[in-house]
Amino acid sequence: MAKILITQHIGEAGVQKLREAGHEVTYRDETEPMTLAELQTAVRYTEGLVCLLTDKVDTAVLDAAPHLKMIANVAVGYDNIDVGVASKRGILVSNTPDVLTETTADHAFALLLAIARRVPEADAFMRAGSYEKFEMFPPLLGLDVYGKTLGVVGMGRIGAAVARRGALGFGMKVLYTANGVKTAVEQELSAQKATLPELLRQSDFVSINVPLTPETHHLFTLETFRQMKPTACLINTARGPVIKEDDLLVALREGIIWGAALDVFEAEPKMAPGLAEYHERLVVAPHLGSATGETRQKMVETAVTNLLAGLAGQPPPNALNAEQLP
Ligand code: NAP
Repeated sequence: MAKILITQHIGEAGVQKLREAGHEVTYRDETEPMTLAELQTAVRYTEGLVCLLTDKVDTAVLDAAPHLKMIANVAVGYDNIDVGVASKRGILVSNTPDVLTETTADHAFALLLAIARRVPEADAFMRAGSYEKFEMFPPLLGLDVYGKTLGVVGMGRIGAAVARRGALGFGMKVLYTANGVKTAVEQELSAQKATLPELLRQSDFVSINVPLTPETHHLFTLETFRQMKPTACLINTARGPVIKEDDLLVALREGIIWGAALDVFEAEPKMAPGLAEYHERLVVAPHLGSATGETRQKMVETAVTNLLAGLAGQPPPNALNAEQLP
């Protein structure tokens, strides 16, 4: 039996499963993350931690958790956890890959279509009673998507799912960046690996699907936007700090790129000053990439399965650092 802390609301099913396995579960059924001081106090006797991407689990928290054996993040991205420090202390860390891949790719494509065809602007136009006559060239002319070039920055699980939608559903040519060559995706979709400058120069739509790391932080700045086509759109369903948001605002205002659709923000949940007021050529969503009821439930189940395995001394299916442990 282990002492488990669940930092935020995850629904009763996951909590129940951990309790049925005989663990002593402290469930903080709240939708706000704890302050650092609260988290430090809460983890004092914790052996298993279930946390969300808004819980920052860094050295300050790990120092306060001398009994911690495993952290199960209910997210695929794990930039909120200092995995390196956890590994040195023998703490297992797991994430929730795969179960959210298609759902997040759906959302990326929803944003892509929304910005290209100006769906939110059209909706606001109708509701404002502005539709008075059909016009051949209306004020809300959009961009073609079919047959265009899609650049996927970060051809991993979600990047490949976005690329598949583009290539197979919309006849798009796919360019990508990744650390390695993605042979299977290249064969399936005739996708081509490119350098980032090449991808930016050629793509009509650029989808960001990299994890947030020191290398990808502010990967997109004014300098990057200047390499894109003035008719290009940027879609970010990865992590906010990959884009320097102030620079994006300049790029949109000055017409350096055509538009952007963002699911994630640099200082989430806030948007950069000016961005919230800017409605044209910008579509925004409150971090909804994996947010369907079915998928969020699967993420919780995955995190619980990982934690139960780890606490039982078995390899968690989605361990991130099993090989790095001392
Ligand atoms: P993944 O399979 O690990 O894919 C990430 C890809 O990025 C990998 O192919 C990796 O290349 C590539 N990459 C890493 N650093 C790079 C760099 N500097 N330049 C170019 N490519 C780089 O992860 P995933 O499951 O697709 O998830 C991707 C990210 O999406 C997550 O980390 C998370 O932050 C975000 N996400 C957001 C939501 C949301 O709600 N908006 C939902 C789910 C995920 P190699 O494989 O060659 O190393």
